[in-house]
Amino acid sequence: MNQRTIKTAIAVTGTGLHSGQPVDLEFHPQPIDTGILFERSDIAGSTPIPASAFLVQDTMMSSNLVFGGTRVGTVEHLLSAIAGLGVDNLLIRVSASEIPIMDGSAAPFVGLLLQAGFCEQDALKKFIRIARTVRVKVDDKWAELRPYDGFELNFEIDFDHPAIDKNFQHAQLQFSTQNFIEQLSSARTFGFLRDIEAMRQNNLALGGSMDNAIVIDEANILNEEGLRFNDEFVRHKILDALGDLYLIGYPILGRFNAYKSGHALNNLVVREILSDHNNFEIVTFDDNVTCPIEYLPLTAITVEG
Ligand SMILES: [Zn+2]
Repeated sequence: MNQRTIKTAIAVTGTGLHSGQPVDLEFHPQPIDTGILFERSDIAGSTPIPASAFLVQDTMMSSNLVFGGTRVGTVEHLLSAIAGLGVDNLLIRVSASEIPIMDGSAAPFVGLLLQAGFCEQDALKKFIRIARTVRVKVDDKWAELRPYDGFELNFEIDFDHPAIDKNFQHAQLQFSTQNFIEQLSSARTFGFLRDIEAMRQNNLALGGSMDNAIVIDEANILNEEGLRFNDEFVRHKILDALGDLYLIGYPILGRFNAYKSGHALNNLVVREILSDHNNFEIVTFDDNVTCPIEYLPLTAITVEG
């Protein structure tokens, strides 16, 4: 199984969640072993920022990378799409300090990357295989990565809120590109109206609306169209985790379990894994049959819409 990049460069314009301003986003193919890089197109000569867990500086409402004084924020939904599609090498150029929010899910990024198309590169794809269980915990929240032959994500939330059904607070994804696209990629971020109003007072979330988030007041979901899945909230938490975990630098072979985790704990479990070489090994597969993860074969990738 070989590394992948995109076939052609592609661009889109979206809105910054916090600034409310238009943000230009471009994807460019990259050579083997480059990994995922972010570059600020609005800062002349700025150094590209590698998608590394060690560059995550704040995790207040999103995962934000800072390198050499340059910042790119809200990277997790885009990284989730990149991880979901199995892209190894890519340059992302962005014209602001935040990745545009699009519809609050990873689906628009998936659509764009599919439209660019993929090409297989002449080097084996590297995976990080979890060799020992590592668990991080803060108060009653925890996240762990365990050895597992494949990639599975389990997530449980615990919201005591009339609009968030108690029966739909746990979800599981057996990772494959197909499962990612169908079961996860379109799950939107969510926010409570009172938090959004408070953020606006501080000039944050100026671009936030029901076009890019599920908005909940004291009792109800305010979006007229309702939810895309009964368990959309917890599915989105898995979507976030997939993006945050890709900052480990490779696709994961392991099982991720989490209870009430968020960007901070997702980041911490990755750093913990990487802190000791006995926790992991880097592996490759000579062919697609022996690889325990299924990506869409290049020939099967079609563009929808
Ligand atoms: Zn999110």
